[in-house]
Amino acid sequence: MAVATQAHSTSKMFDEFMNEVISGNPNEPEFHQAVREVAESVMPFIEAHPVYWKERILQRIVEPEQVVMFRVAWVDDSGAVRVNRGYRIQMNSALGPYKGGLRFHPTVNLSILKFLAFEQVFKNSLTGLPLGAGKGGSNFDPKGKSDREVMHFCQSFMTELYRHVGPMTDVPAGDIGVGTREIGYMFGQYKRIRKEFSGVLTGKGLGWGGSHIRPEATGYGNVYFVEQMLLRRGDGLGGKIVTVSGSGNVAQYTVEKLIERGAKCVTLSDSGGFIYDPDGLNEEKLEFVKWLKNEKRGRIAEYAEKFGCQYYAGKRPWAIPCHIAMPSATQNELDGEDAQQLVRNGCYCVSEGANMPCTPEAIDVFRQAKILFGPGKAANAGGVAVSGLEMSQNAGHTVWTREQVDRQLQAIMKSVHDTCCLYGTKSDGWVDYVDGANIGGFVRVANAMLAQGVV
Ligand code: NDP
Repeated sequence: MAVATQAHSTSKMFDEFMNEVISGNPNEPEFHQAVREVAESVMPFIEAHPVYWKERILQRIVEPEQVVMFRVAWVDDSGAVRVNRGYRIQMNSALGPYKGGLRFHPTVNLSILKFLAFEQVFKNSLTGLPLGAGKGGSNFDPKGKSDREVMHFCQSFMTELYRHVGPMTDVPAGDIGVGTREIGYMFGQYKRIRKEFSGVLTGKGLGWGGSHIRPEATGYGNVYFVEQMLLRRGDGLGGKIVTVSGSGNVAQYTVEKLIERGAKCVTLSDSGGFIYDPDGLNEEKLEFVKWLKNEKRGRIAEYAEKFGCQYYAGKRPWAIPCHIAMPSATQNELDGEDAQQLVRNGCYCVSEGANMPCTPEAIDVFRQAKILFGPGKAANAGGVAVSGLEMSQNAGHTVWTREQVDRQLQAIMKSVHDTCCLYGTKSDGWVDYVDGANIGGFVRVANAMLAQGVV
């Protein structure tokens, strides 16, 4: 197609685009990081298909359709008034209602939520389900708060958020600091205000509109993705040593599936440090972790005391030798030096359970070493995929069995993997899953945007 922009070289287009993003979104380093990674993959593809440049598709994708920021005032157990900030980023609705989690963590700010919402566009597209993209949350810290305080906060948060969400508009889920407890309190408040029992949130309890396998979905899905990557080279999980970071929802169910598959998970972490258990976690130890983190809300150091293994305060687990690493805590938790150490120690597969846990320098190391690297927007797509299945069940007033949901999750993860291979296989047969996920995710949403006109 003859368009004026054809004269642009990829690097000129890239520079022009990134300069606009940086100057238009100052002081948002995480957002710039996420956009840069996608643009590096997608720009050569756009150059080969200039209609996307002419219609300014990528420029439109980086601009949220709407950003809502609001005050969340609430009263703590001592009677003191507390004030937090709430957010919802409605990033892209070309493929369906906005969909993405809510994060409650003191580090939450606009940059972090915009990076997460941006990643969600590509992730949700890769699932093949009718899901737009969004993200939200608050700088509220649930740690150290009583159940009552968490409830009061959630109710105040939803008292504003309810205006902006709904089963056909925007369907939030959980993320860091938001589990079934928080979803329950927010769902209760939405129902009270709207007089409506609907699928406005996913991650609900099984007895009141939730789906089987939703809590497990992100962790299980990442293990299914790793299995697909290994299978392609005739390999499997049995007997593999795996390092996992985090000890929350994603980490717990990653470990559960790894144990089931005969792999040995030797580490877990939280913001205080990590534990190294050379014997590996088993079902009993994992039950303790679930109780410790979900009921007692304690620290991972207590695992080391209980099971007599090493605890490394203030450290991350990437120096421990392993075959496979699955970072599942938070963004930028694995840097270039960690990556070099992993590769030196013989690690040949890294799969991101968290969103953007590997820094750009770390990803460069993995790509140069041509090891298997599953980027989060593909590898952790299982969570939002089962959220999509929860929406379908809610809309159809039905409940599918655990086996039905798990089968669909496995099929979706295989399809995400196959899409990555389709767009990411290089001439020597090595799959660049970063390119594959970015381009594969881009194509579907970009074509929907083209079809829907300039909006
Ligand atoms: P949880 O709140 O259940 O667990 C988070 C874990 O990460 C905790 O162990 C926490 O430790 C640790 N952590 C959080 N912040 C930091 C930090 N700044 N430094 C070190 N450790 C930290 O969250 P999830 O398991 O749900 O989420 C983990 C990651 O997975 C996030 O990146 C999230 O965006 C991503 N993700 C989650 C999905 C889901 O379905 N839940 C779906 C897709 C991606 P501590 O207890 O000390 O805070």
